[in-house]
Amino acid sequence: MRRPFIAGNWKMHMTTSEASGLASELVAACREIDGVDIAVAPPFTALAAVGKAFAGSSIGLGAQNMHWEDKGAFTGEIAAAMLTDVGCRYVILGHSERRQFFGETDEGVNRKVLAAFKHKLIPIVCVGESEEERDRGVTFVIVDRQVTGALKNVAASQMANVVVAYEPIWAIGTGRTATPAQAQEVHQTIRAKLAGLFGNEAAAGVRILYGGSVMPENAAEFVSLEGVDGALVGGASLKVDAFTGIVTETARVKATAR
Ligand code: PEP
Repeated sequence: MRRPFIAGNWKMHMTTSEASGLASELVAACREIDGVDIAVAPPFTALAAVGKAFAGSSIGLGAQNMHWEDKGAFTGEIAAAMLTDVGCRYVILGHSERRQFFGETDEGVNRKVLAAFKHKLIPIVCVGESEEERDRGVTFVIVDRQVTGALKNVAASQMANVVVAYEPIWAIGTGRTATPAQAQEVHQTIRAKLAGLFGNEAAAGVRILYGGSVMPENAAEFVSLEGVDGALVGGASLKVDAFTGIVTETARVKATAR
């Protein structure tokens, strides 16, 4: 049984004091919610403050990126051990904004995934096609390539600690979402690919999230789909009511499905 999972990505928002305030509000708002794993990925500068606010709560701390090397002359980069040192449990890897604006490749994502395992971080591996790729009919080719590339040299036994986020790029921050049918067919394709690479049992244990303009109003549409285990949330994770609404909807839908 896969535990539902909602992760928030704060991107390049929130000073330390803003982050701390929002994190404390989230802890209070999510206290009573059961049956859903929750994580938030603030910017690096706010990790320590948010970690402090989350202490003793069930909300997990995540980072938005990291480097694959343990340490060294990599100006501006952050290593996995630095993330675990401030209490991170998760790291988002291969987000489309990193691929689009910072030249991240499947090979680089793969190195980071392997480094995450070495440091006992749970990678949230993002995959998804652009609008142009969807229009050209190559969505499955792209997602297949991204999944295969990111998970090269990963052992089947490690797959229980991988989260995959399917995020169509055209749905990120645009207010447009995939239709439930579009989301479901890509989720099914990803799980089938994982089964081909790692076996049915390992694939069945991997949580696959949907991401792209998820709001409290549409969350149920996605998380009620077979094989959709939760959501990666950008914009709505910056508002306590919206993020809590998504978590609450997920808890409700998944409890009904059990
Ligand atoms: C994201 O950046 O991962 C994301 C899904 O953003 P939004 O929810 O704002 O579309």
